[in-house]
Amino acid sequence: MTINKQPSCDDPFDNLLPVHVARARLTDALHSVSETETVSLINAIGRALSVDVVSPVDVPGYTNSAMDGYAIASSSIPATGVAQLKILGTAWAGKVFSGSVDTGEAVRIFTGGLMPEGCDTVVIQEHVTAEGDKVTIDSDVQAYKNVRLAGEDVQQNHTVLEAGTQLNAAEVGVLASLGINNVDVYRRLRVAFFTTGDELCALDQAAGTQLEPGMLFDSNRYSLHAMLKGLHVDVIDLGIVRDSADATRVAMQKAAQAADVIITSGGVSAGDADFVTQVFHELGDVSFWKLAMRPGRPLAFGQIGNAFLFGLPGNPVAVMVTFLQFVQPAIKQMMGIKNTAPFTINAVCQSKLRKSQGRVEYQRGVLGNDENGNLMVTSTGKQGAGRISSMSAANCLIVIAAELSIVSPGDVVEVQPFHGLFS
Ligand code: AMP
Ligand code: MG
Repeated sequence: MTINKQPSCDDPFDNLLPVHVARARLTDALHSVSETETVSLINAIGRALSVDVVSPVDVPGYTNSAMDGYAIASSSIPATGVAQLKILGTAWAGKVFSGSVDTGEAVRIFTGGLMPEGCDTVVIQEHVTAEGDKVTIDSDVQAYKNVRLAGEDVQQNHTVLEAGTQLNAAEVGVLASLGINNVDVYRRLRVAFFTTGDELCALDQAAGTQLEPGMLFDSNRYSLHAMLKGLHVDVIDLGIVRDSADATRVAMQKAAQAADVIITSGGVSAGDADFVTQVFHELGDVSFWKLAMRPGRPLAFGQIGNAFLFGLPGNPVAVMVTFLQFVQPAIKQMMGIKNTAPFTINAVCQSKLRKSQGRVEYQRGVLGNDENGNLMVTSTGKQGAGRISSMSAANCLIVIAAELSIVSPGDVVEVQPFHGLFS
C-alpha cells in the first residue's frame, strides 16, 4: 500500500488536504476482500455479488393477465357497435384454462391467470356486460391491452444483476423472482472499533444518568455501532480504551488480529493525551491527515498488518461526519460494492449559512418541500461539532464548498440526504 504522508501533523505550512484528494487516496489504497462464498438468499441481504447473475428464466414465465376481466382474441373486437362472445370457462391465477379460444369466444380471467391459447387481449370486467355464458364487448376495446408478456420484466439469459451490486430489498426480490436461492457473494467484513478517552463513562457501568465531575457518556460507541450495523458487517466492539499508550497498543493489536478494518474515536489530535496516532505510527504504516473539512479535521488512516485503520476525531458530530464521508465508502469498497459515492442532490437553501473559506463544511440541515413542491433545505441552527442532537434534528448534510464563505437564502446547495447515507 502506498499512503501519501503529506501533509503530516507537524507540517509547518499547515496545509489542509482537500476532501476529494483524501477520497481518491483512500480509493487507491484500499482493496476489496477477495474471498467469496455461496450463501442462501436470506443470508445474502446487504452483501455484494461476486459474479454477474444471468437469468435462467423469463419473468414473467408465461404470458398472463394484468387485470380481472375476459381474455379474447383481438379479432373478436367489432369495428363498430357491439359483439357478443361465448364464455368457454375460467382462467384463475394458478389454475389454467386448457382449451383454445377462437374469434367470437372468451374466457373469464383473473389477474395473473395464464392467457389461454388464441387470446392476445384482456377486456377489463368494468368494460363488459356479462350474462349467463355470454359477454358483450364494444368497439372501444383496445387490442393487446392488459396483458403481461412472458419475459417483459426479465429476459432469460440476460445479465440481471452485475458483480459488485449490493443485495438490498429490491435485488433479493429480483433474485427470488428468478427462483435463485443460492448466490455468490463476497465474505462479510469484520470491523473492530474502540473509543478512547479518560473522560468516557460506559452506559452499562453508570449509576443511572449520574456522572462524576468531568466525565461524559460514551455516545460515539452507539452512533458508530449503529452506522456499522447498517452496513451489514461483523462488528467487534472493543470497548473504551483509556488515554495511555499501553492501553491503546493492546487494543490496537487485538483489533488488527481480529478485523479487516479498525475504527477508533478520539485521541487523534496532537495533544498530550492523544495516543492513537502515536501508537498507530509505532505499529503500522500510518498517515495523519489534516483535512480541509469541518467538522472532522484530523483523520488518521493507514494499515496495521492486513487491517486498514481509521482514526476518527472524538467530537460526536465529527465522528459521524467523517464516518459517513470516508469510512462508509471505504467499507463498501472493501465489501466488494461498486457504487460507493454518497448520494447527493441540489436544494434551495432557506437559511443564511456562514463558514470559513478553504474547507468544505458539512452542516446539519432539514430537507423538505416548499409550498410549491420544490426541494429546499434549512439549517438545524448552531453547528458545534459536539452537538450530537443536531444530527438527530437533521435529515441531511448540507455540503458547502471550500471556496464559499457565505450561503444566502435562495442559493442552491448540495445536500446529502440521510436516507441515502445511512444505508
Ligand atoms: P478528542 O479528539 O479525544 O480530543 O475528543 C474531542 C472531544 O470529543 C472531547 O470533548 C471529548 O470529550 C469528546 N469525545 C471523545 N470521545 C467521545 C465519545 N466516545 N463519546 C462522546 N464524546 C466523545
Ligand atoms: Mg480524547
